[in-house]
Amino acid sequence: MPELPEVEYNRRRLQRAMAGARIIRVTVRQPKLRYDISDDLVARLEGQTVHAVERRAKYLLIALASGDRLLMHLGMSGWFRVARSTRHLETHDHVIVEMSNGAVVIFNDPRRFGFMRLLSPDDQATHAPLTRLGPEPLAKTFDAAALAAGIARRKTSLKIALSDQRVVGGLGNIYAVEALHRAGLSPRRKAATLVTKRGAPRQPAHALVQAIKDVLTEAIRRQARPGDGNPFRVYDREGQPCPRPGCRGIIRRIVQGGRSTYYCPVCQR
Ligand SMILES: [Zn+2]
Repeated sequence: MPELPEVEYNRRRLQRAMAGARIIRVTVRQPKLRYDISDDLVARLEGQTVHAVERRAKYLLIALASGDRLLMHLGMSGWFRVARSTRHLETHDHVIVEMSNGAVVIFNDPRRFGFMRLLSPDDQATHAPLTRLGPEPLAKTFDAAALAAGIARRKTSLKIALSDQRVVGGLGNIYAVEALHRAGLSPRRKAATLVTKRGAPRQPAHALVQAIKDVLTEAIRRQARPGDGNPFRVYDREGQPCPRPGCRGIIRRIVQGGRSTYYCPVCQR
């Protein structure tokens, strides 16, 4: 399933292919994605200049000169590729966007849990998944104070708090697990212990924010040259030795909120 780093990697490729160019032709070969593609989508896209391709949590947004934004989600198996022609289309190439600069942007999604939905400026201000999202993890606005504001007075564990889109947008299970290990914080620790009674962030909140930014930045960098094998320090490494230098702990797996958490019971407190 595409996580934030994969979504950001797709965004950067789309930005290079589309920003500043005009949409010449849109072909919908399969309208039945997670939601049906609306009948007016092609007419509202064709002829529009693309201002920018943006990302919010795990959503992509194509900002158009008309003020509309095309909201897209990769679902379970969606991805974009950029070609130079419409030859060599594949079975699961559902939407083809031809640009004035010659780029052909192709949305491919074998399982069809992805979607595309055109939002007017009014829709953008009220659209539920977008308006409910907390701060963007890689933005400057996501700092220890923002994290403290999100988790103060929470009765839940840190891991559950980080999985809440209102605390931080689009972090995802894998990167929450990795960031907690890097920050040396137990996923079972009460979230509110990172905040003073007056609502100020304690030192571990600063460490956790930095760890979140670091694991995501490194994962985005990895997208360009994916290797074989598990690239994570603790995720999916139950029973293996903790990778922290000098730590003799063994990685343990527990289930929190229905999702697998991996952590070292020795160095994560
Ligand atoms: Zn350890």
